[in-house]
Amino acid sequence: AAGDAGDFISDAVEKDIELGTYSGRVQTRFPPEPNGYLHIGHAKAITVDFGIAERFDGICNVRLDDTNPVAEDPEFVESIIEDIRWLGYRPAALVHASDYFQQLYEWAEYLIGQGLAYVDDQDNEAISAQRGGFGREGIASPFRERPVQENLDLFRRMRAGEFPDGSRVLRAKIDMNADNMALRDPVMYRIRHASHHQTGDDWPIYPTYDWAHGQSDAIEGVTHSLCTLEFDTHRPLYDWYLEHLPLTGGRPRQIEFARLELTYTITSKRRLAKLVTEGIVDGWDDPRMPTLRGLRRRGYPPAALRDFCRYIGTTRTNSRHNIEELEAFVRRELNASSQRRMVVTRPLRLVIDDWPTDEHGEPVVEYFELTNNPENPGDGTRRVAFTGELYIERDDFAEFPPPKFFRLSPGHEVRLRGAYLITATDVVKNDAGDIVEVHADYDRASRGGDAPDGRRVRSTLHWVSAGHDVELRVALYDRLFSAPNPGESTGEPLDDLNPASRTLLEGAKAELAIQDVAPGEVVQFERLGYFALDPTEPALFHRTVGLRDEWAA
Ligand code: ATP
Ligand code: MG
Ligand code: MG
Repeated sequence: AAGDAGDFISDAVEKDIELGTYSGRVQTRFPPEPNGYLHIGHAKAITVDFGIAERFDGICNVRLDDTNPVAEDPEFVESIIEDIRWLGYRPAALVHASDYFQQLYEWAEYLIGQGLAYVDDQDNEAISAQRGGFGREGIASPFRERPVQENLDLFRRMRAGEFPDGSRVLRAKIDMNADNMALRDPVMYRIRHASHHQTGDDWPIYPTYDWAHGQSDAIEGVTHSLCTLEFDTHRPLYDWYLEHLPLTGGRPRQIEFARLELTYTITSKRRLAKLVTEGIVDGWDDPRMPTLRGLRRRGYPPAALRDFCRYIGTTRTNSRHNIEELEAFVRRELNASSQRRMVVTRPLRLVIDDWPTDEHGEPVVEYFELTNNPENPGDGTRRVAFTGELYIERDDFAEFPPPKFFRLSPGHEVRLRGAYLITATDVVKNDAGDIVEVHADYDRASRGGDAPDGRRVRSTLHWVSAGHDVELRVALYDRLFSAPNPGESTGEPLDDLNPASRTLLEGAKAELAIQDVAPGEVVQFERLGYFALDPTEPALFHRTVGLRDEWAA
């Protein structure tokens, strides 16, 4: 789309279009394995896969890479589909690698017939040991020269379920001395007597990622198979399989790009799972998790994730992006889209002593029309009640103000947002010596918040009128990890957990219009930041992000 930065993948695709390689067609796929929830790194892959298809009027499928039934679960399938939709993408089709098990099996027989695959009776350990390493020659398996007929017979019996798990594998016969380890007779099939969430008990053998991936791409008509850099060394194998099969369509092309990593964040599914199973977070959708569910519950707008991914672009160099950059996109999006509300998170009672009473001796209630979103006049205004008893933020008052403290203190004047100017006169303390109430006088000529004489008032405080409030719980979040690169020093990211990543405040006071906020919606609490109403728990707000970058300098 217009405005996107150029990138090397687009350039490559453009060249293929110019050359007519795929008759001008562009098709990509996003291939998650259903063994966990999608995270911010996947958001990057999704925007690349769908973004390239969109940009060239092509299509993008979601293909569940479900070749390992032991690790996979239909629960993950559901969540993956939902999260992709939430991020704003609609796959052309939802397909499974397991849809192609029969075709893959037939192609494996074909390779055996060509003398290009063999059944190896050794276990994994022996196979790995013989594979050798860079600069060290591999050792050929004693089964490498098995005759075609014997291989075919054994492979059919593997498929028929005659052999136990781990007793044999099917390997491609490529080159045991290749510099690229991926080409040293890679495993194509393993025996695994396990039920599969799509194919049930049909298959006692399962294809490896490498054997399944390129072939699935070819079957679907994928033109550009975009993946992360760690598959770089697998590309020759990807191509080798495609070259040696009797394909009728064009051959897909694998292009690799750098993974997205963020400071103070991990994206390994295994480690994210550990945070959940060890109870360090409340679940996969804990607002501190970098999963799409977590970010969603935290209030991250999908558009901010898409814009951020587009902004960092695709490169071939692995690097860690500063999470502050992502937060800046979140803030920008929310500033434009979210309504303002006043919420006092740590309430301190403020009494205006000279506030008038009506003919019944009750304190007068005034109403102010406050703007819902100065960035978006269409959001209109709301009526907010004001009386002589209010709540202000405890932090906004100091009995003995330190230097440069311009908020409320005895003898000083501040503005109560959109209402009146007030001057603190006195405090009330409890037996322990804590301030429990602040007393003030107000300037009745300052209605709306400005003095007629134009005198300067440095601070504007948010407030909530007592008796016109609802109570909320507010969850404040800090980084889940305290190191920019979690695990860098010990190898174990969980060693760098921040023990104080969540602070739960009970008894916050909010203006009544907070009740208009829909579950999942984000509002700006004036002066405090952006907060998302929990999708299921009433009156629980999660701080999405502060109003400015509090971590900067
Ligand atoms: P794991 O190895 O932790 O199981 P994975 O990276 O293999 O995770 P998949 O579900 O197989 O996870 O990934 C689906 C797609 O998302 C792949 O194309 C993968 O390369 C891409 N992807 C995963 N993590 C990232 C990341 N951090 N940045 C960019 N792309 C990613
Ligand atoms: Mg994977
Ligand atoms: Mg992986």
